[in-house]
Amino acid sequence: MAPRLERRLASFLEPDHRLPHTLVDALGSPLNVVLPDQIAENVERFRSVFRRHQLAGRVFFAHKANRSSALVRRLVTTDAALDAASLAELQHALACGWTGDRIMATGPKDPEFLWLAARTGAIIHADGAGEVEQAAGLVRAYDLPRLRIVPRLSEFETSGPRTLSRRSRFGTPVKSLEQLLDTLERHGDALEPVGVGYHLDTTSLDEKATALEGCLLAMDGLRLRGFQPRVIDVGGGFGVSYLARAEQWDRYTTELTNAVMGRRPPMTWGGHGYGLRLENGTLKGALGLYPAHRPVSGAAYLDELLSRPAPGLGRPLGTLLLESLYDLYAEPGRALTDQCGLTLGKVLEVRHPGGDAADTGAPMVRLALNAGDVSLEDHGVLMDPVLLPRDPAGSGPEGPVAVHLVGNLCLEADLITRRTVHLPRLPRPGDLLAFPNTAGYCMDFQATHAQQQPVARKVAAFEDDPEESGGSWRWCLDEQFWPITRPGGQRT
Ligand SMILES: *Cc1c(COP(=O)(O)O)cnc(C)c1O
Repeated sequence: MAPRLERRLASFLEPDHRLPHTLVDALGSPLNVVLPDQIAENVERFRSVFRRHQLAGRVFFAHKANRSSALVRRLVTTDAALDAASLAELQHALACGWTGDRIMATGPKDPEFLWLAARTGAIIHADGAGEVEQAAGLVRAYDLPRLRIVPRLSEFETSGPRTLSRRSRFGTPVKSLEQLLDTLERHGDALEPVGVGYHLDTTSLDEKATALEGCLLAMDGLRLRGFQPRVIDVGGGFGVSYLARAEQWDRYTTELTNAVMGRRPPMTWGGHGYGLRLENGTLKGALGLYPAHRPVSGAAYLDELLSRPAPGLGRPLGTLLLESLYDLYAEPGRALTDQCGLTLGKVLEVRHPGGDAADTGAPMVRLALNAGDVSLEDHGVLMDPVLLPRDPAGSGPEGPVAVHLVGNLCLEADLITRRTVHLPRLPRPGDLLAFPNTAGYCMDFQATHAQQQPVARKVAAFEDDPEESGGSWRWCLDEQFWPITRPGGQRT
């Protein structure tokens, strides 16, 4: 299942390009690489969708997708904003040059996080009435300027009785909107509700259209109370398409079903079914995988949502936003980190199991990284790594080979993926496997110090001239990247 590689990632991974080997020789395995210029390009793709729908507003990068300083510092030079979900993320953003007017504080908030967000004038994406009360208390106690608030709503309903958006531990259910408005009204001197929003963890456009329409209706509720709301925040969850070819994804899922049914040899370690199982000859369960090939994702998904008719009101959601002169806020995490990085792991050993140790009999390739360092599997993303031979000339005649990728922990469960992976030839110790497109949640969200194995270091890689493809690659440690790092310091 070939990964989707856009120009920058493909250029960095070109076979005769020695930089990945040089970097791992110097900085060890695992190693994370981020491509800061790509995130700026991704912001521009979202902006072009705003323009197409004639909408003003902001694209907030959901910082939690990656801890990189380089990405956050590159982004501050664009017109993007930032969504901080913890005290440390907020501190990091401020230290990277962001100011409160371009930051939104989301997620569960401890008092220190809420105080610093309020002190620096960030927008508060309020989870519920309790947080609204707390924020108002801080404004009064510390004599802060009036604070912008965007309440997060949830459990939207269509005109029928059926609840279309699933339950969430976050947000205020729309049926409790009136009580929330009472609270906001009481604190009108301290807080300014500038709009409403949602964030739904789903790929379903229907659910999001229902939520967006629910927000349009909630805005009327705010107006009736005398507020002047002007923003609707559609959250994140625009997604990434990881695979180059739809037919590979379709075939894989079909064949995986056949394998679980026993109609073909296993395609996974131990016959794992990714949620599917056979019970008394019947297929049970549901495939628990990320749709690794998505026909519509990222900025195009936002475009599709805005073009869609509102389920009750009937007209396109983008048109309804425009006619009300509402600004659009979006908070993409994964989608903004698309193509923004990769994880490198060194091959330590290739072992040929005797008998049926791995069911498929495929050789085991042991890597100097573990499942926490490249958590594609944990996110249900199935995608082949790219083999970077140590010695490209001596790659030998062997053809494509099926292998299992195992990690560096003394733990049966430490498989990089339970899927049998196909490589163009059998790797050798010293070769590298590059796991592309890990910048969104997969490179540092779950990395741990288990067994005191090293946590990956991170480097920022960039081309001499970001406008000119085919330039040579340069790099620095992630924490040493600043917007002026590029030779000549030109701003782009
Ligand atoms: C995680 C999160 C996001 C980003 O979600 P993605 O799926 O990465 O786009 C945006 N907003 C909120 C409130 C979140 O919790």
